[in-house]
Amino acid sequence: MSLALVLNSGSSSIKFQLVDPENHATDEPFVSGLVEQIGEDLGRIVLKFDGEKHVFDSPIPDHSVGLRLAFELMEERGCGPTQVDIIAVGHRVVHGGILFSSPELITDEIVDMIRDLIPLAPLHNPANIDGIEVARKILPNVPHVAVFDTGFFHSLPPAAALYAINNKVAAEHGIRRYGFHGTSHEYVSRRLVELLDRPAEEINQITFHLGNGASMSAIRGGKAVDTSMGMTPLAGLVMGTRSGDIDPGIVFHLARTANMSIDEIDNLLNKQSGVKGLAGVNDFRALREMIHEGDQDAWSAYNVYIHQLRRYLGSYMFALGNVDALVFTAGVGENATFVRADALAGLEMYGIKVDPERNELPNDGPRLISTDDSAVKVFVIPTNEELAIARYAVAFA
Ligand code: AMP
Repeated sequence: MSLALVLNSGSSSIKFQLVDPENHATDEPFVSGLVEQIGEDLGRIVLKFDGEKHVFDSPIPDHSVGLRLAFELMEERGCGPTQVDIIAVGHRVVHGGILFSSPELITDEIVDMIRDLIPLAPLHNPANIDGIEVARKILPNVPHVAVFDTGFFHSLPPAAALYAINNKVAAEHGIRRYGFHGTSHEYVSRRLVELLDRPAEEINQITFHLGNGASMSAIRGGKAVDTSMGMTPLAGLVMGTRSGDIDPGIVFHLARTANMSIDEIDNLLNKQSGVKGLAGVNDFRALREMIHEGDQDAWSAYNVYIHQLRRYLGSYMFALGNVDALVFTAGVGENATFVRADALAGLEMYGIKVDPERNELPNDGPRLISTDDSAVKVFVIPTNEELAIARYAVAFA
């Protein structure tokens, strides 16, 4: 079996999977794991292989030690890099700026270009580079491929990509809409084209990636024409812990009247806001329980979440003019049947009719959840960003 190693390196963690690129989205990867608490007194490696979960605690001073330790643990279980056939490594890279529209074979120059983009993603790109450099040393003889979270949105037209702020300042600092979750939006949108069995150029769709982070995209003929995340992944929909769109004046107000520092406001909007900020929890299963128990904050958080989804849906329907399909994906989009039902309730006059029974079908693959006479078809299509990255990577092998 030829496998791809997929790496998603964060500032203090590395998520990794060994993936058979022939898998389906709902198949388990061959191996999956997480190195966490890198740089803290005690780190942890969690490895899932052959239906079993293994947990190891050890000091992990840096990414290099973390990945090497993970590989040693895999070797001990017979699934290490010298025992299985790794033919390519795919690296998730958060920010590709305006430089990258598609996956790139990594060379020293490409690493330098990713480094040049650090000002746009100061937390993410340095960690991504650490992962790339470590993995290239450990596995020097296979292609390493960078897959950019922003790549799919390179095609955004200027009307959707530009912010109406002073254009000299914007140009100097790279301020524009880049969009994120591109690998997922592209993956499910292509699956939709396969399911409809019509030419991609003919199909207009709106994709909802609703996970802990959440974003929506309007896609015309396979190309993204608008998306809800912006220069950073903070914009757009209400998310698990992120505010999504707010009046930018709130930032000045908090700085001036609450005396909060930029870092405190950053933390507030990214980590203490969204559904969690309004209701105290960010998991939709817990939120639903609280609503059933009559918790008013949970109810109002849910309503704010749904209202924002419908705001974007309306604007993307207008942007596209006519819409063939809506696609729901990621943890909430695939599982929270109530979110799909409420997001699309009462839109019959726009040709959107959800079938309540189909909407309750189990999440074990792509499925149609609209009625047969719904002009706009509604699908749930499970996403799998690691599988998508694995497929991009092996294309270079
Ligand atoms: P993701 O970021 O795509 O992994 O999505 C994670 C989120 O999906 C969780 O925080 C939950 O809010 C949501 N989720 C996962 N499973 C379910 C479920 N069975 N029902 C409702 N929400 C779910």
